[in-house]
Amino acid sequence: MSLDDDAERAEQIFRDAALVERARNAERNTLKPYGACYFCGESLRLGLLFCNTDCRDDWQREHDAHVRNGASSC
Ligand SMILES: [Zn+2]
Repeated sequence: MSLDDDAERAEQIFRDAALVERARNAERNTLKPYGACYFCGESLRLGLLFCNTDCRDDWQREHDAHVRNGASSC
């Protein structure tokens, strides 16, 4: 075990996290505003996806769980 191994592993973890973050953002960017919150269904001004950051975060959590459980099952 060398310092190089540690640095390499840390870099790999960082790179994976960046990829996951980019994929999450890309998925959210494919959502189209439809006049209501994607999480709770509350009416929204056109152009918004969620009524607040709580709804956005909850939606993301559910979405992540869904993906983890196998998106192919839907
Ligand atoms: Zn909402």
